[in-house]
Amino acid sequence: MRPDKYIKNYIDGALVPPASGQYLDNVNPATGKVYSWLPDSDAEDVERAVAAAKKAFPEWSRCGVERRFRILSRIADIIEQNLDDFARAESIDNGKPLAMSRSVDIPRAQANFRFFATSILHFASEAHPVEGRAINYTLRQPIGVVGCISPWNLPLYLFTWKIAPALAAGNCVVAKPSELTPMTAYMLAKACIEAGLPKGVLNIVHGLGPKAGQAIVEHPEIKAISFTGGTKTGQAIARTAAPMFKKLSLELGGKNPNIIFADCDFDQMMVDTLRSSFSNNGQICLCGSRIYVERPLYERFRDELVKRAQFLKVGDPFSQVTDLGALVSEAHMEKVLSYISLAEMEGGKILCGGKRLELEGELAGGYFVRPTVIEGLPLECRTNQEEIFGPVVTIQPFDTEEEALQLANGTGYGLAATLWTQDISRAHRMAEQLEFGIVWINCWMERDLRTPFGGMKSSGVGREGGWEALRFFTEPKNVCVKY
Ligand code: NDP
Repeated sequence: MRPDKYIKNYIDGALVPPASGQYLDNVNPATGKVYSWLPDSDAEDVERAVAAAKKAFPEWSRCGVERRFRILSRIADIIEQNLDDFARAESIDNGKPLAMSRSVDIPRAQANFRFFATSILHFASEAHPVEGRAINYTLRQPIGVVGCISPWNLPLYLFTWKIAPALAAGNCVVAKPSELTPMTAYMLAKACIEAGLPKGVLNIVHGLGPKAGQAIVEHPEIKAISFTGGTKTGQAIARTAAPMFKKLSLELGGKNPNIIFADCDFDQMMVDTLRSSFSNNGQICLCGSRIYVERPLYERFRDELVKRAQFLKVGDPFSQVTDLGALVSEAHMEKVLSYISLAEMEGGKILCGGKRLELEGELAGGYFVRPTVIEGLPLECRTNQEEIFGPVVTIQPFDTEEEALQLANGTGYGLAATLWTQDISRAHRMAEQLEFGIVWINCWMERDLRTPFGGMKSSGVGREGGWEALRFFTEPKNVCVKY
């Protein structure tokens, strides 16, 4: 399955150009060069997609879970069979190492389809009998046409994390991937055609967030929006969708703490902390960007983290020895570098990294930044309060459990926290008090697709994953029968 130079929308079962005929540049972030073009879609494309989805809904919603299971499984098979092509396309679009696309992004996209294809076979609803008098039972019916909007950091992984449960539950979908990483969504459209997905069931509209994305959010026939992206964008979406009483699932930003106690398994903690700091260039909403270390361990930890961060190989996403590829875009790289300058102005000491890495040859225009560790910053400063979403972490010592909790809970975000300790009582005690949707103890990114996934506070509203996703994409209806 080959990527094409000109990406097309997927509407009513066909690959079609945008209504306006206008295209946007698609840049390879490792070279800084335009390598393909994507539709600059607008409200007219969204209108066509919604019309197709509405037309497809009656049949798709009533065709039975067995048929939906078969088609979604076939899509999973096709992604699996084309792993190499999908992985290459993802790495060119996003700048991430090919090894990561091959082992994480694409396998997970395949797993999302397979997981929800089988989940729908087992999905059940409740009954509430009133003894001797009546029975209530709950129907869980698909909502209709729903909108799915996803970001660029884990492009196909997060796109399919929404689309798969929406389709499995019997909805028809109008979806938009990030304009920065459209290629694997385009290839997914081809996979859906090959798998025999009926036309109009899934429609993929490419383009800019404020234009194509906004048109999806404000379309009156789209009854629910599942969005993953930045907190500011989430606020804008809620402003439009909430007064229309749309169902909303918002998975937003994070400023995640890693809390490390001196009694931890040091070697395992170092391996996972390096990963949680710099995997995907820190561009995972679950990456830990504020690291708090119990004082007796602080210096040993700091020296080891800096040593290992300096050892990471930054460069060509297609080299087997690369740990960190390019950041996704020039604008994002500038944002990350501006936060590093801000950290210095706020009194932080850059222990390693802190700069753009200029490579040679083909990669001369690429957006590479060295992994950066900063110390000496207080909780209240902007560097420690705002999401940077790059290969940048701050480290700080603490003395007591209470102080660690205060620091960890001390931002407006509440997505994920990681805790390292061998004291099981302390681990449970703290897990109860951490204000985060996800708490990892002695691990990071240990994912189980059945668990509720999402954040508290400014990190979002609602949960994805397992039954939560199927509940979101269905409308519960209570039926009461008296006898
Ligand atoms: P953005 O919020 O900028 O964009 C996300 C998506 O929304 C893109 O497809 C974007 O399109 C689109 N969009 C932008 N504006 C609008 C609008 N007004 N109406 C509708 N759609 C719009 O996020 P990023 O792509 O920069 O992704 C990074 C962010 O995502 C980080 O904050 C990160 O924490 C968060 N994230 C959260 C996760 C979670 O599960 N909680 C997981 C992964 C990331 P376009 O690209 O064209 O602008």
